[in-house]
Amino acid sequence: MSAKRCDIKSSLRSLACIILCLLLCQSGCRAGRTSGISRAGDDNCRTVYEIFVGSYCDSDGDGTGDLNGIRSKLDYISDLGFDAVWLTPVHPSATYHKYDVDDYYAIDPSFGTPEDYDALLKACHDKGIRVYMDLVLNHTSEDNAWFRAASDYLHELPSGWEPDTSYCKYYDYYNFSREAQNGYSHLEGTEWYYEAGFWSEMPDLNLNSEAVRAEIRDIMAYWLGKGVDGFRLDAVTSYYEGDTYANTEFLRFLKETANSIDPDCYIVGEAWTDRDTIASMYTSGIDSLFEFPFAGEGGIIEKTLNGNCRASEYVDCMMQNEEVYGMANPGYVGAPFYTNHDMNRSASYYPEDDGPVTKMAYAMNLFMTGNAFVYYGEEIGMSGAGKDENKRAPMYWSDDQNDPDICAGPPGMDEIQMKFPPLKDQMKDKQSVYSWIKDVIRIRNTYPSIAGGVTEKTDSVCDDKVASFYRRSETEDDVLIVMNLGDQPVKKDLSMFGKSLVLSEKLSTNKEKITFKRGTLTMPACSIALFTNK
Ligand code: CA
Repeated sequence: MSAKRCDIKSSLRSLACIILCLLLCQSGCRAGRTSGISRAGDDNCRTVYEIFVGSYCDSDGDGTGDLNGIRSKLDYISDLGFDAVWLTPVHPSATYHKYDVDDYYAIDPSFGTPEDYDALLKACHDKGIRVYMDLVLNHTSEDNAWFRAASDYLHELPSGWEPDTSYCKYYDYYNFSREAQNGYSHLEGTEWYYEAGFWSEMPDLNLNSEAVRAEIRDIMAYWLGKGVDGFRLDAVTSYYEGDTYANTEFLRFLKETANSIDPDCYIVGEAWTDRDTIASMYTSGIDSLFEFPFAGEGGIIEKTLNGNCRASEYVDCMMQNEEVYGMANPGYVGAPFYTNHDMNRSASYYPEDDGPVTKMAYAMNLFMTGNAFVYYGEEIGMSGAGKDENKRAPMYWSDDQNDPDICAGPPGMDEIQMKFPPLKDQMKDKQSVYSWIKDVIRIRNTYPSIAGGVTEKTDSVCDDKVASFYRRSETEDDVLIVMNLGDQPVKKDLSMFGKSLVLSEKLSTNKEKITFKRGTLTMPACSIALFTNK
């Protein structure tokens, strides 16, 4: 363990943070709910498409997805209803995933040129699409000039001498030690070790260093100056591993720094952890932290659809999260997602399903509040599980092997058997996963209170298989959403909600119709009804 990880003071601070959070939870629930209502219609509530750059669309025939390829697909992205994109890292790096940055100011040549990035930014903005840049600050690559300079200096430093940052400021950019500590790697040819929590080729930055923090400010200013609309922060729970207080303080620094440059800069952090830790980290003032408790295998959405969690609990969990996060940061914007580039594709979660359950899962994701994120390829139910490379398979544009858009995929990727047809076929089929998700996004974008309102459970309608809730908003019309997540038809009496209820949207995964007569709602298996008021 590093000195920073063993710090007793920081442990005490973490404890204080948890106690503070618990006290807030008991005293101020209403505040969060009320402030949440004001989010309705907030321009921050977007539908965001995550693009793994190297696997999306190849514009020049070299097999690697690139920036011009993404630009060529903006009509497709916009037509689906997305109004923001998160691009995985675009900076130079020896790895295919590029989550270890050589140079924060450059563009990886395999993805294109700086001019290509500018052109993509402009084309996105012309279509009303925001661009969120992936910012990897926990570590750099070992090829980063900062690490090379520090490494060269320590190679030249005579044995036993103390390093002097006035000779090499980069020594202070990383965490070096003469002791072989847990999470440290040996700097070959020296008596030194360096912290590298993930991998020896990804040295951890010393985030306590004022010089490193000044570099981060400059990097943010450079890209915000170019017009980037926000940042997705990688691995925020690893900044100070296991130290929620220190991580929260660092997030506060990042949020305040970004907004001192651009008051509208949006920040979403990858805190792959539980709800209470996420809530603590929201006290940093960060706009969003991904909703990991709902996502992936074992997440609330998958558990509900596999019958391991009641449909009513899905509603309870949304309400609890909105309250707890809203208390920690009244201005927070939820960040629901279902899968990302580190998770098995959702096609593998329901082996018996030929479409309906997959479709319901996406509605559960996209009907949550805040900015909803969708990983590329999920809109067609792509497959890909097991090793990371498989989760980042080439976008399945068509089954034509000569389709110039299709990428080669990450080196070492297995051959993947797709469960659903390629996009080209799904676009022609009104019953496809693609058509369903497009319709769900259309509805999400049509009724602003879906993304911007506050969830209010309608207890009398909820049961093991039916999730029912209002989205209340002070500035937009309320909507009532009823989801039948089970494989049997249901009848529900809605007369208690009055005669002004109007069945405005019907989403059915099969040929059976949703009907609403004299206050009684009849729903086939796997279907959704959305009501407004006359
Ligand atoms: Ca290419």
